[in-house]
Amino acid sequence: MVISTTAGDRADHFLDCTFASRYVRNPVPKFMMPATSQPKEAAYQIINDELMLDGAPRLNLASFVTTWMEPECDKLMMASMNKNYVDMDEYPVTTELQNRCVNMIANLFNAPIGAAETAVGVGTVGSSEAIMLAGLAFKRKWQHRRKLEGKPYDKPNIVTGANVQVCWEKFARYFEVELKEVKLSEGYYVMDPVKAVEMVDENTICVAAILGSTLTGEFEDVKLLNDLLIKKNKETGWETPIHVDAASGGFIAPFLYPELEWDFRLPLVKSINVSGHKYGLVYAGVGWVVWRSKEDLPDELVFHINYLGSDQPTFTLNFSKGSSQIIAQYYQFIRLGFEGYKNVMENCMDNTRALKEGLEKTGRFEILSKDIGVPLVAFKLKDSSKHTVFEIADSLRKFGWIVPAYTMPANAEHIAVLRVVVREDFSRSLAERLLSDIDKVLNEIDTLPSRVSMKAAHVTPTVDEGVNASEGMVKPGKKSVEEIQREVATYWRNLVERKRTGVC
Ligand SMILES: *Cc1c(COP(=O)(O)O)cnc(C)c1O
Repeated sequence: MVISTTAGDRADHFLDCTFASRYVRNPVPKFMMPATSQPKEAAYQIINDELMLDGAPRLNLASFVTTWMEPECDKLMMASMNKNYVDMDEYPVTTELQNRCVNMIANLFNAPIGAAETAVGVGTVGSSEAIMLAGLAFKRKWQHRRKLEGKPYDKPNIVTGANVQVCWEKFARYFEVELKEVKLSEGYYVMDPVKAVEMVDENTICVAAILGSTLTGEFEDVKLLNDLLIKKNKETGWETPIHVDAASGGFIAPFLYPELEWDFRLPLVKSINVSGHKYGLVYAGVGWVVWRSKEDLPDELVFHINYLGSDQPTFTLNFSKGSSQIIAQYYQFIRLGFEGYKNVMENCMDNTRALKEGLEKTGRFEILSKDIGVPLVAFKLKDSSKHTVFEIADSLRKFGWIVPAYTMPANAEHIAVLRVVVREDFSRSLAERLLSDIDKVLNEIDTLPSRVSMKAAHVTPTVDEGVNASEGMVKPGKKSVEEIQREVATYWRNLVERKRTGVC
Protein backbone atom coordinates (compact mmCIF):
# COMPACT_ATOMS: atom_id res chain seq x y z
CA MET A 1 0.00 0.00 0.00
CA VAL A 2 1.32 3.43 -0.93
CA ILE A 3 0.45 6.15 1.51
CA SER A 4 -0.05 9.47 -0.19
CA THR A 5 0.60 12.58 1.83
CA THR A 6 -1.36 15.11 -0.15
CA ALA A 7 -3.31 17.47 2.06
CA GLY A 8 -6.65 15.76 1.53
CA ASP A 9 -5.41 12.30 2.40
CA ARG A 10 -3.24 13.35 5.25
CA ALA A 11 -5.95 13.33 7.88
CA ASP A 12 -7.09 9.92 6.75
CA HIS A 13 -3.76 8.23 7.12
CA PHE A 14 -1.86 10.12 9.78
CA LEU A 15 -2.48 11.10 13.36
CA ASP A 16 -2.03 14.75 14.17
CA CYS A 17 -0.72 14.98 17.68
CA THR A 18 -0.88 18.41 19.19
CA PHE A 19 1.15 18.01 22.33
CA ALA A 20 3.22 15.15 21.11
CA SER A 21 4.62 17.49 18.47
CA ARG A 22 6.97 18.66 21.18
CA TYR A 23 8.54 15.23 21.01
CA VAL A 24 7.96 13.99 17.47
CA ARG A 25 8.13 15.91 14.25
CA ASN A 26 7.00 13.17 11.90
CA PRO A 27 3.34 12.28 11.87
CA VAL A 28 2.48 8.78 12.99
CA PRO A 29 0.85 6.59 10.34
CA LYS A 30 -2.53 5.19 11.36
CA PHE A 31 -2.72 1.95 9.48
CA MET A 32 0.89 0.87 9.10
CA MET A 33 3.45 0.17 11.75
CA PRO A 34 5.74 3.21 11.95
CA ALA A 35 9.11 2.55 10.37
CA THR A 36 11.02 3.89 13.36
CA SER A 37 10.67 3.85 17.13
CA GLN A 38 9.83 6.89 19.20
CA PRO A 39 10.38 7.98 22.80
CA LYS A 40 8.05 6.42 25.34
CA GLU A 41 6.83 9.83 26.50
CA ALA A 42 5.73 10.64 22.97
CA ALA A 43 3.91 7.35 22.48
CA TYR A 44 2.14 7.89 25.78
CA GLN A 45 1.17 11.44 24.95
CA ILE A 46 -0.15 10.58 21.48
CA ILE A 47 -2.39 7.81 22.75
CA ASN A 48 -3.49 9.72 25.82
CA ASP A 49 -4.51 12.69 23.67
CA GLU A 50 -6.51 10.54 21.30
CA LEU A 51 -8.29 8.67 24.12
CA MET A 52 -9.57 11.96 25.53
CA LEU A 53 -12.25 11.81 22.87
CA ASP A 54 -13.75 8.64 24.34
CA GLY A 55 -16.82 9.12 26.51
CA ALA A 56 -16.39 9.27 30.29
CA PRO A 57 -17.01 5.72 31.57
CA ARG A 58 -18.91 6.90 34.65
CA LEU A 59 -21.36 8.88 32.53
CA ASN A 60 -21.96 5.82 30.36
CA LEU A 61 -25.38 4.83 31.62
CA ALA A 62 -25.73 2.20 28.90
CA SER A 63 -23.37 -0.16 30.63
CA PHE A 64 -23.85 -2.66 33.42
CA VAL A 65 -20.11 -3.03 33.67
CA THR A 66 -18.15 -1.75 36.65
CA THR A 67 -16.38 1.56 36.14
CA TRP A 68 -15.07 2.24 39.60
CA MET A 69 -13.09 0.20 42.13
CA GLU A 70 -11.17 1.07 45.24
CA PRO A 71 -7.54 2.15 44.80
CA GLU A 72 -6.37 -0.79 46.93
CA CYS A 73 -7.94 -3.15 44.44
CA ASP A 74 -6.53 -1.22 41.48
CA LYS A 75 -3.14 -1.78 43.12
CA LEU A 76 -3.67 -5.55 43.41
CA MET A 77 -4.80 -5.67 39.80
CA MET A 78 -1.81 -3.73 38.50
CA ALA A 79 0.52 -6.00 40.46
CA SER A 80 -0.95 -9.13 38.86
CA MET A 81 -1.21 -7.83 35.27
CA ASN A 82 1.78 -9.97 34.27
CA LYS A 83 0.40 -13.27 35.59
CA ASN A 84 -1.11 -15.60 33.03
CA TYR A 85 -4.03 -17.24 34.74
CA VAL A 86 -3.58 -20.53 32.92
CA ASP A 87 -0.14 -21.17 34.46
CA MET A 88 -1.64 -22.87 37.46
CA ASP A 89 1.61 -24.61 38.37
CA GLU A 90 3.37 -21.28 38.68
CA TYR A 91 0.52 -19.40 40.32
CA PRO A 92 -1.24 -21.92 42.56
CA VAL A 93 -2.45 -19.21 44.91
CA THR A 94 -4.29 -17.43 42.11
CA THR A 95 -5.92 -20.73 41.18
CA GLU A 96 -6.88 -21.21 44.79
CA LEU A 97 -8.51 -17.76 44.85
CA GLN A 98 -10.59 -18.60 41.77
CA ASN A 99 -11.70 -21.85 43.43
CA ARG A 100 -12.72 -19.97 46.55
CA CYS A 101 -14.73 -17.54 44.40
CA VAL A 102 -16.49 -20.43 42.62
CA ASN A 103 -17.45 -21.91 45.99
CA MET A 104 -18.64 -18.61 47.40
CA ILE A 105 -20.84 -18.05 44.36
CA ALA A 106 -22.19 -21.62 44.38
CA ASN A 107 -23.12 -21.17 48.04
CA LEU A 108 -24.68 -17.80 47.33
CA PHE A 109 -26.83 -19.56 44.71
CA ASN A 110 -27.75 -22.36 47.13
CA ALA A 111 -25.97 -25.19 45.32
CA PRO A 112 -26.47 -28.49 47.16
CA ILE A 113 -22.80 -28.99 48.05
CA GLY A 114 -21.94 -31.74 50.52
CA ALA A 115 -19.63 -30.95 53.42
CA ALA A 116 -16.65 -32.72 51.85
CA GLU A 117 -17.31 -31.47 48.33
CA THR A 118 -16.22 -28.45 46.39
CA ALA A 119 -18.46 -26.63 43.96
CA VAL A 120 -18.32 -27.24 40.22
CA GLY A 121 -17.71 -24.06 38.26
CA VAL A 122 -15.18 -21.87 36.56
CA GLY A 123 -14.12 -18.26 36.10
CA THR A 124 -14.58 -16.98 32.55
CA VAL A 125 -14.00 -13.80 30.60
CA GLY A 126 -17.64 -12.85 31.12
CA SER A 127 -21.13 -14.25 31.03
CA SER A 128 -20.83 -14.83 27.30
CA GLU A 129 -18.09 -17.41 27.67
CA ALA A 130 -19.91 -18.82 30.70
CA ILE A 131 -23.06 -19.27 28.59
CA MET A 132 -21.16 -20.97 25.75
CA LEU A 133 -19.79 -23.47 28.29
CA ALA A 134 -23.13 -24.08 29.98
CA GLY A 135 -24.81 -24.48 26.59
CA LEU A 136 -22.19 -26.97 25.44
CA ALA A 137 -22.70 -29.02 28.60
CA PHE A 138 -26.47 -29.17 27.97
CA LYS A 139 -25.97 -30.05 24.32
CA ARG A 140 -23.57 -32.87 25.15
CA LYS A 141 -25.79 -34.28 27.92
CA TRP A 142 -28.81 -34.24 25.63
CA GLN A 143 -26.83 -35.99 22.87
CA HIS A 144 -25.76 -38.73 25.29
CA ARG A 145 -29.30 -39.37 26.31
CA ARG A 146 -30.57 -39.48 22.73
CA LYS A 147 -27.78 -41.86 21.72
CA LEU A 148 -28.62 -44.19 24.58
CA GLU A 149 -32.25 -44.16 23.51
CA GLY A 150 -31.26 -44.85 19.90
CA LYS A 151 -32.88 -41.60 18.75
CA PRO A 152 -31.55 -38.95 16.35
CA TYR A 153 -29.45 -36.28 18.00
CA ASP A 154 -28.79 -33.87 15.16
CA LYS A 155 -31.46 -31.21 15.74
CA PRO A 156 -30.90 -29.74 19.19
CA ASN A 157 -32.83 -26.61 20.14
CA ILE A 158 -32.92 -24.21 23.04
CA VAL A 159 -35.94 -22.26 24.26
CA THR A 160 -35.52 -18.65 25.42
CA GLY A 161 -37.44 -15.40 25.43
CA ALA A 162 -37.01 -13.04 22.46
CA ASN A 163 -35.44 -10.69 25.02
CA VAL A 164 -32.26 -12.77 25.37
CA GLN A 165 -28.91 -11.10 25.24
CA VAL A 166 -27.02 -11.47 21.97
CA CYS A 167 -24.63 -14.08 23.43
CA TRP A 168 -27.42 -16.67 23.30
CA GLU A 169 -27.84 -16.04 19.60
CA LYS A 170 -24.09 -16.40 19.26
CA PHE A 171 -24.14 -19.69 21.13
CA ALA A 172 -26.94 -20.96 18.91
CA ARG A 173 -25.17 -20.01 15.71
CA TYR A 174 -21.62 -20.98 16.67
CA PHE A 175 -22.57 -24.33 18.16
CA GLU A 176 -25.41 -25.19 15.80
CA VAL A 177 -28.37 -25.24 18.12
CA GLU A 178 -31.70 -23.89 16.95
CA LEU A 179 -32.88 -20.92 19.02
CA LYS A 180 -36.61 -21.06 19.70
CA GLU A 181 -37.69 -17.66 21.00
CA VAL A 182 -40.86 -16.97 22.93
CA LYS A 183 -42.18 -13.74 21.47
CA LEU A 184 -42.88 -10.73 23.68
CA SER A 185 -45.97 -8.57 23.55
CA GLU A 186 -46.82 -4.98 24.44
CA GLY A 187 -46.72 -4.67 28.20
CA TYR A 188 -44.99 -8.06 28.73
CA TYR A 189 -41.28 -7.87 28.02
CA VAL A 190 -39.92 -11.14 29.43
CA MET A 191 -40.27 -14.81 28.58
CA ASP A 192 -43.71 -16.18 29.44
CA PRO A 193 -43.03 -19.53 31.21
CA VAL A 194 -46.30 -21.02 29.96
CA LYS A 195 -45.45 -20.32 26.33
CA ALA A 196 -41.84 -21.44 26.87
CA VAL A 197 -42.89 -24.83 28.19
CA GLU A 198 -45.31 -25.22 25.29
CA MET A 199 -42.37 -24.77 22.90
CA VAL A 200 -40.26 -27.45 24.59
CA ASP A 201 -39.95 -30.67 22.58
CA GLU A 202 -37.83 -33.82 22.69
CA ASN A 203 -34.94 -31.94 21.06
CA THR A 204 -34.81 -29.14 23.62
CA ILE A 205 -31.45 -29.18 25.39
CA CYS A 206 -32.58 -26.61 27.98
CA VAL A 207 -34.80 -23.62 28.65
CA ALA A 208 -32.79 -20.49 29.42
CA ALA A 209 -34.41 -18.06 31.84
CA ILE A 210 -33.01 -14.61 32.51
CA LEU A 211 -32.65 -13.14 35.94
CA GLY A 212 -32.60 -9.52 34.98
CA SER A 213 -33.67 -8.94 31.40
CA THR A 214 -31.18 -6.73 29.61
CA LEU A 215 -34.07 -4.66 28.25
CA THR A 216 -36.01 -3.80 31.40
CA GLY A 217 -34.16 -5.41 34.32
CA GLU A 218 -37.21 -7.56 35.05
CA PHE A 219 -36.69 -11.03 36.57
CA GLU A 220 -38.29 -13.91 34.71
CA ASP A 221 -40.42 -16.28 36.76
CA VAL A 222 -37.97 -19.16 37.14
CA LYS A 223 -40.04 -20.86 39.83
CA LEU A 224 -43.13 -21.08 37.65
CA LEU A 225 -40.99 -22.29 34.76
CA ASN A 226 -39.50 -24.97 37.01
CA ASP A 227 -42.92 -26.15 38.20
CA LEU A 228 -44.44 -26.25 34.72
CA LEU A 229 -41.43 -28.04 33.31
CA ILE A 230 -41.43 -30.68 36.07
CA LYS A 231 -45.03 -31.42 35.09
CA LYS A 232 -44.20 -31.61 31.40
CA ASN A 233 -41.15 -33.81 32.02
CA LYS A 234 -43.31 -36.19 34.05
CA GLU A 235 -45.87 -36.42 31.27
CA THR A 236 -43.37 -36.90 28.45
CA GLY A 237 -40.48 -38.71 30.07
CA TRP A 238 -38.06 -36.00 28.93
CA GLU A 239 -35.56 -34.43 31.29
CA THR A 240 -35.51 -30.87 29.99
CA PRO A 241 -33.37 -28.79 32.39
CA ILE A 242 -33.15 -25.04 33.08
CA HIS A 243 -30.22 -22.66 32.84
CA VAL A 244 -30.48 -19.29 34.55
CA ASP A 245 -28.70 -16.39 32.89
CA ALA A 246 -28.15 -14.31 36.01
CA ALA A 247 -25.53 -12.07 34.35
CA SER A 248 -26.80 -9.01 36.18
CA GLY A 249 -29.37 -10.40 38.66
CA GLY A 250 -27.05 -12.99 40.19
CA PHE A 251 -25.46 -10.38 42.43
CA ILE A 252 -28.75 -8.58 43.09
CA ALA A 253 -31.29 -11.22 44.08
CA PRO A 254 -29.28 -12.96 46.86
CA PHE A 255 -28.81 -9.62 48.65
CA LEU A 256 -32.09 -7.84 48.02
CA TYR A 257 -34.59 -10.69 47.59
CA PRO A 258 -33.21 -13.69 49.52
CA GLU A 259 -36.66 -15.29 49.63
CA LEU A 260 -37.03 -15.30 45.86
CA GLU A 261 -36.52 -18.84 44.55
CA TRP A 262 -34.70 -18.67 41.23
CA ASP A 263 -31.49 -20.63 41.83
CA PHE A 264 -30.39 -24.17 42.75
CA ARG A 265 -33.23 -24.37 45.26
CA LEU A 266 -35.28 -25.24 42.16
CA PRO A 267 -34.47 -28.82 41.14
CA LEU A 268 -34.42 -28.29 37.36
CA VAL A 269 -31.89 -25.45 37.53
CA LYS A 270 -28.67 -27.20 36.52
CA SER A 271 -26.38 -24.27 35.82
CA ILE A 272 -26.19 -20.53 36.41
CA ASN A 273 -23.95 -17.82 34.98
CA VAL A 274 -23.20 -14.43 36.47
CA SER A 275 -21.01 -11.54 35.31
CA GLY A 276 -18.35 -10.68 37.87
CA HIS A 277 -17.86 -7.41 36.01
CA LYS A 278 -21.47 -6.26 36.40
CA TYR A 279 -22.90 -6.23 39.92
CA GLY A 280 -20.00 -8.48 40.98
CA LEU A 281 -18.27 -5.07 41.05
CA VAL A 282 -15.09 -5.90 39.10
CA TYR A 283 -13.77 -4.14 35.96
CA ALA A 284 -14.56 -5.75 32.60
CA GLY A 285 -13.20 -9.23 31.99
CA VAL A 286 -14.69 -11.68 34.49
CA GLY A 287 -17.72 -13.96 34.61
CA TRP A 288 -18.66 -17.20 36.31
CA VAL A 289 -20.57 -20.36 35.58
CA VAL A 290 -21.52 -22.88 38.26
CA TRP A 291 -23.17 -26.24 37.86
CA ARG A 292 -25.51 -27.87 40.31
CA SER A 293 -23.33 -30.99 40.62
CA LYS A 294 -20.58 -32.96 38.91
CA GLU A 295 -23.22 -34.97 37.02
CA ASP A 296 -24.35 -31.86 35.19
CA LEU A 297 -21.02 -31.24 33.53
CA PRO A 298 -20.13 -34.07 31.09
CA ASP A 299 -16.68 -35.32 31.93
CA GLU A 300 -15.33 -35.29 28.40
CA LEU A 301 -15.63 -31.50 28.24
CA VAL A 302 -13.29 -31.13 31.19
CA PHE A 303 -9.53 -31.21 30.81
CA HIS A 304 -7.51 -32.23 33.80
CA ILE A 305 -4.31 -30.59 34.91
CA ASN A 306 -2.37 -31.92 37.86
CA TYR A 307 -0.47 -29.60 40.07
CA LEU A 308 0.81 -29.86 43.58
CA GLY A 309 -0.69 -33.32 43.87
CA SER A 310 -4.25 -32.21 43.37
CA ASP A 311 -6.46 -32.32 40.33
CA GLN A 312 -7.34 -29.04 38.63
CA PRO A 313 -10.14 -29.55 36.14
CA THR A 314 -10.38 -26.86 33.48
CA PHE A 315 -13.23 -26.06 31.13
CA THR A 316 -12.78 -22.81 29.21
CA LEU A 317 -12.84 -21.69 25.59
CA ASN A 318 -9.56 -19.81 25.61
CA PHE A 319 -6.22 -20.74 27.10
CA SER A 320 -4.26 -17.71 28.32
CA LYS A 321 -5.85 -14.79 30.13
CA GLY A 322 -4.98 -12.31 32.85
CA SER A 323 -5.23 -13.06 36.56
CA SER A 324 -6.14 -9.57 37.71
CA GLN A 325 -9.89 -9.91 37.37
CA ILE A 326 -10.01 -13.10 39.44
CA ILE A 327 -7.92 -11.50 42.15
CA ALA A 328 -10.14 -8.41 42.07
CA GLN A 329 -13.27 -10.55 42.43
CA TYR A 330 -11.79 -12.22 45.48
CA TYR A 331 -10.89 -8.79 46.88
CA GLN A 332 -14.49 -7.60 46.50
CA PHE A 333 -15.88 -10.73 48.16
CA ILE A 334 -13.71 -10.48 51.26
CA ARG A 335 -13.63 -6.69 51.36
CA LEU A 336 -17.39 -6.20 51.16
CA GLY A 337 -18.78 -9.46 52.47
CA PHE A 338 -22.51 -10.13 52.34
CA GLU A 339 -23.20 -6.96 54.28
CA GLY A 340 -21.19 -4.77 51.92
CA TYR A 341 -22.79 -6.16 48.76
CA LYS A 342 -26.21 -5.72 50.33
CA ASN A 343 -25.43 -2.07 51.12
CA VAL A 344 -24.21 -1.35 47.60
CA MET A 345 -27.25 -2.98 46.00
CA GLU A 346 -29.68 -1.25 48.35
CA ASN A 347 -28.08 2.05 47.53
CA CYS A 348 -28.38 1.35 43.80
CA MET A 349 -32.05 0.54 44.32
CA ASP A 350 -32.64 3.77 46.28
CA ASN A 351 -31.09 5.77 43.46
CA THR A 352 -33.15 3.83 40.93
CA ARG A 353 -36.32 4.75 42.80
CA ALA A 354 -35.31 8.41 42.98
CA LEU A 355 -34.69 8.40 39.24
CA LYS A 356 -38.02 6.71 38.54
CA GLU A 357 -39.87 9.25 40.65
CA GLY A 358 -38.13 12.14 38.95
CA LEU A 359 -38.97 10.77 35.51
CA GLU A 360 -42.58 10.23 36.48
CA LYS A 361 -42.77 13.77 37.76
CA THR A 362 -42.07 15.12 34.28
CA GLY A 363 -45.40 13.61 33.28
CA ARG A 364 -43.87 12.64 29.95
CA PHE A 365 -42.63 9.12 30.58
CA GLU A 366 -44.02 5.72 31.36
CA ILE A 367 -41.72 3.46 33.40
CA LEU A 368 -41.45 -0.10 32.10
CA SER A 369 -39.13 -1.52 34.78
CA LYS A 370 -40.72 -3.34 37.69
CA ASP A 371 -40.06 -2.55 41.34
CA ILE A 372 -38.35 -5.91 41.79
CA GLY A 373 -35.42 -6.54 39.48
CA VAL A 374 -32.05 -5.17 38.49
CA PRO A 375 -31.48 -1.52 39.45
CA LEU A 376 -32.19 0.09 36.12
CA VAL A 377 -34.90 2.26 34.66
CA ALA A 378 -36.35 1.52 31.23
CA PHE A 379 -38.84 4.17 30.21
CA LYS A 380 -40.74 5.30 27.16
CA LEU A 381 -42.38 8.49 26.02
CA LYS A 382 -46.10 8.55 26.72
CA ASP A 383 -46.59 10.55 23.55
CA SER A 384 -44.16 9.79 20.75
CA SER A 385 -46.23 11.29 17.99
CA LYS A 386 -43.98 14.37 17.68
CA HIS A 387 -40.63 13.37 19.09
CA THR A 388 -38.95 10.08 19.87
CA VAL A 389 -36.72 8.60 22.53
CA PHE A 390 -33.94 8.54 19.93
CA GLU A 391 -33.93 12.34 19.85
CA ILE A 392 -33.71 12.41 23.62
CA ALA A 393 -30.77 10.00 23.58
CA ASP A 394 -29.03 12.14 20.93
CA SER A 395 -29.59 15.35 22.87
CA LEU A 396 -28.37 13.85 26.15
CA ARG A 397 -25.04 13.13 24.49
CA LYS A 398 -24.45 16.86 24.28
CA PHE A 399 -24.43 16.88 28.07
CA GLY A 400 -21.98 13.98 28.14
CA TRP A 401 -24.57 11.33 29.07
CA ILE A 402 -24.73 8.08 27.19
CA VAL A 403 -28.27 6.79 27.54
CA PRO A 404 -29.21 4.18 24.97
CA ALA A 405 -32.51 4.16 23.11
CA TYR A 406 -33.72 1.00 21.43
CA THR A 407 -36.83 -0.77 20.25
CA MET A 408 -38.04 -3.97 21.87
CA PRO A 409 -37.62 -7.33 20.14
CA ALA A 410 -40.47 -9.23 18.45
CA ASN A 411 -43.42 -8.86 18.86
CA ALA A 412 -43.06 -5.54 20.66
CA GLU A 413 -40.91 -3.79 18.06
CA HIS A 414 -43.17 -0.76 18.03
CA ILE A 415 -42.14 0.09 21.61
CA ALA A 416 -39.03 2.27 21.85
CA VAL A 417 -37.39 2.88 25.21
CA LEU A 418 -34.55 4.65 26.96
CA ARG A 419 -32.58 2.81 29.60
CA VAL A 420 -30.47 4.00 32.50
CA VAL A 421 -28.47 1.37 34.36
CA VAL A 422 -27.82 2.39 37.94
CA ARG A 423 -24.38 1.24 39.04
CA GLU A 424 -22.57 1.69 42.33
CA ASP A 425 -20.86 4.86 41.11
CA PHE A 426 -24.07 6.50 39.90
CA SER A 427 -24.67 8.68 42.92
CA ARG A 428 -27.80 10.52 43.96
CA SER A 429 -26.31 13.81 42.83
CA LEU A 430 -25.60 12.36 39.38
CA ALA A 431 -29.21 11.12 39.26
CA GLU A 432 -30.42 14.62 40.04
CA ARG A 433 -28.15 16.13 37.42
CA LEU A 434 -29.40 13.64 34.85
CA LEU A 435 -33.00 14.49 35.66
CA SER A 436 -32.32 18.19 35.27
CA ASP A 437 -30.60 17.58 31.93
CA ILE A 438 -33.52 15.45 30.75
CA ASP A 439 -35.78 18.37 31.66
CA LYS A 440 -33.66 20.70 29.55
CA VAL A 441 -33.75 18.26 26.65
CA LEU A 442 -37.53 17.96 26.87
CA ASN A 443 -37.90 21.75 26.82
CA GLU A 444 -35.54 21.95 23.89
CA ILE A 445 -37.22 19.37 21.71
CA ASP A 446 -40.60 20.93 22.43
CA THR A 447 -39.38 24.02 20.58
CA LEU A 448 -38.23 21.97 17.59
CA PRO A 449 -40.35 20.90 14.66
CA SER A 450 -41.64 17.37 14.95
CA ARG A 451 -38.96 15.05 13.70
CA VAL A 452 -41.44 12.25 13.31
CA SER A 453 -43.34 14.12 10.63
CA MET A 454 -40.17 15.33 8.99
CA LYS A 455 -38.49 13.41 6.23
CA ALA A 456 -35.64 12.64 8.60
CA ALA A 457 -38.01 10.65 10.74
CA HIS A 458 -37.42 7.57 8.66
CA VAL A 459 -34.05 7.36 10.38
CA THR A 460 -35.60 6.72 13.70
CA PRO A 461 -37.30 3.35 13.46
CA THR A 462 -34.17 1.64 12.15
CA VAL A 463 -31.73 3.16 14.57
CA ASP A 464 -32.39 0.37 17.04
CA GLU A 465 -30.61 -2.01 14.75
CA GLY A 466 -27.36 -0.15 15.02
CA VAL A 467 -25.82 2.78 16.75
CA ASN A 468 -28.30 3.38 19.53
CA ALA A 469 -28.55 -0.23 20.47
CA SER A 470 -27.30 -0.70 23.97
CA GLU A 471 -24.71 -3.20 25.04
CA GLY A 472 -25.39 -6.62 23.72
CA MET A 473 -28.55 -5.69 21.94
CA VAL A 474 -26.82 -5.06 18.63
CA LYS A 475 -28.37 -7.28 16.04
CA PRO A 476 -27.49 -7.43 12.37
CA GLY A 477 -29.57 -4.64 10.93
CA LYS A 478 -30.73 -3.04 7.78
CA LYS A 479 -28.34 -0.10 8.05
CA SER A 480 -24.71 -0.08 8.99
CA VAL A 481 -23.66 1.79 12.10
CA GLU A 482 -21.68 4.20 9.90
CA GLU A 483 -24.74 4.93 7.80
CA ILE A 484 -26.82 5.69 10.84
CA GLN A 485 -24.09 7.78 12.43
CA ARG A 486 -23.83 9.75 9.20
CA GLU A 487 -27.56 10.35 9.13
CA VAL A 488 -27.66 11.41 12.76
CA ALA A 489 -24.70 13.75 12.18
CA THR A 490 -26.39 15.24 9.12
CA TYR A 491 -29.54 15.74 11.11
CA TRP A 492 -27.71 17.70 13.78
CA ARG A 493 -25.74 19.71 11.26
CA ASN A 494 -28.96 20.72 9.53
CA LEU A 495 -30.56 21.55 12.83
CA VAL A 496 -27.70 23.78 13.92
CA GLU A 497 -27.71 25.41 10.51
CA ARG A 498 -31.46 26.03 10.70
CA LYS A 499 -31.09 27.52 14.14
CA ARG A 500 -28.20 29.72 13.03
CA THR A 501 -30.09 31.01 10.03
CA GLY A 502 -33.32 31.34 11.94
CA VAL A 503 -35.13 28.90 9.66
CA CYS A 504 -36.50 26.91 12.53
C1 LIG B 1 -24.55 -8.68 30.03
C2 LIG B 1 -25.34 -9.88 29.80
C3 LIG B 1 -24.81 -10.99 29.13
C4 LIG B 1 -23.42 -10.99 28.57
O1 LIG B 1 -22.52 -10.88 29.59
P1 LIG B 1 -20.98 -10.49 29.45
O2 LIG B 1 -20.50 -10.68 30.83
O3 LIG B 1 -20.94 -9.07 29.00
O4 LIG B 1 -20.37 -11.42 28.46
C5 LIG B 1 -25.61 -12.10 28.99
N1 LIG B 1 -26.86 -12.13 29.46
C6 LIG B 1 -27.42 -11.07 30.10
C7 LIG B 1 -28.82 -11.18 30.64
C8 LIG B 1 -26.68 -9.91 30.30
O5 LIG B 1 -27.23 -8.87 30.93
